[in-house]
Amino acid sequence: MTDTPRALRRILGPGEQELSCEECFELLDSYVDLEAAGVDAGQAMPGMWPHLLGCPACADEHDALLELVRDDERSR
Ligand SMILES: [Zn+2]
Repeated sequence: MTDTPRALRRILGPGEQELSCEECFELLDSYVDLEAAGVDAGQAMPGMWPHLLGCPACADEHDALLELVRDDERSR
């Protein structure tokens, strides 16, 4: 059972290890999808939030993506 992506396993695992921007970016899609679906994304992917708080670049990317996803859902 080693087919879980490394970055994801690290997020789901214990500890509050912060993600790198690369890992954050990789997971941002899923994170935003959860948020848009009304799921508690911060709980589902605990490693993301601390990084977004500390990294303006990724936070910007997150905001833009969330906007996009929400627009997309509204137009459906
Ligand atoms: Zn970052």
